[in-house]
Amino acid sequence: MPELPEVETYRRFLDELVLGQTIAAVEILDAKVLAVEADTLRREVSGAAVTATRRLGKNCFLELSTGKVLVLHFGMTGDVGAYRDDYDRPRFTRVALHLDSGLRIAFIDPRKFGRIRLTDSVAAFQLAKKLGPDALELTAAELQTALARKKTLLKPLLLDQRLTAGLGNWIVDEVLFQAAVHPERRANTLEPAEVERVHAAVQLVLHTAIEQEATYRQFPASFLIHAREWDESPDPHSDAHEYCPRDRAPIVKKYVGGRATYYCPTCQPTPSEE
Ligand SMILES: [Zn+2]
Repeated sequence: MPELPEVETYRRFLDELVLGQTIAAVEILDAKVLAVEADTLRREVSGAAVTATRRLGKNCFLELSTGKVLVLHFGMTGDVGAYRDDYDRPRFTRVALHLDSGLRIAFIDPRKFGRIRLTDSVAAFQLAKKLGPDALELTAAELQTALARKKTLLKPLLLDQRLTAGLGNWIVDEVLFQAAVHPERRANTLEPAEVERVHAAVQLVLHTAIEQEATYRQFPASFLIHAREWDESPDPHSDAHEYCPRDRAPIVKKYVGGRATYYCPTCQPTPSEE
């Protein structure tokens, strides 16, 4: 599923290819991914130039010279691509933006859970969708304030896009592992130093993932992500990934707030009765 790091990678790809370019036409191959009338989309986007690319959480935005903003959400399987001729069009391209230059930008989505819509501004979209600040922009002070007010479990709270936009399931597990905080701590019981560690870990995990363009197997060995269940073991001759990279304790899998959660039982001690 495209999480914040993938979407940031897509945004950079789009920024390189479409910034300053004029979109000559919009080709709709499957309207299922549209959350806007096809005619409206064609009318508002055709002839407009892309003046900026932005991202908020898992949403990517193309700001247009008309003042409208194209919003791309990649659902479960969304991706972007570029091509010039019909015969090179990536499989599962649902919508293609034809640029004046002849290049075409593909919105690719095999499972069609992604959505394309229009909005008046990133701020209007953020308000309508009740999204908090982007996880990379969230300050330690904002996190402190948000956690201090809540008695809920830390993990589901960090997944709540109203608190901060862009933290998904594996990211929160990695953040809490790096910060050495148990996912079932009550948010308001965290010491200021622990909140600082969580904040620093959000930055570390997201910047690492973006640097590696979300290729998880290239992440440092000190990351918990290697313990998650992959299609195949990262190293078929070793079960090292099932153990904590710090102290070799077996990584625990448990459902927290209905979501598969991985943590180290010694680095992230179980909360006492609070
Ligand atoms: Zn450990």
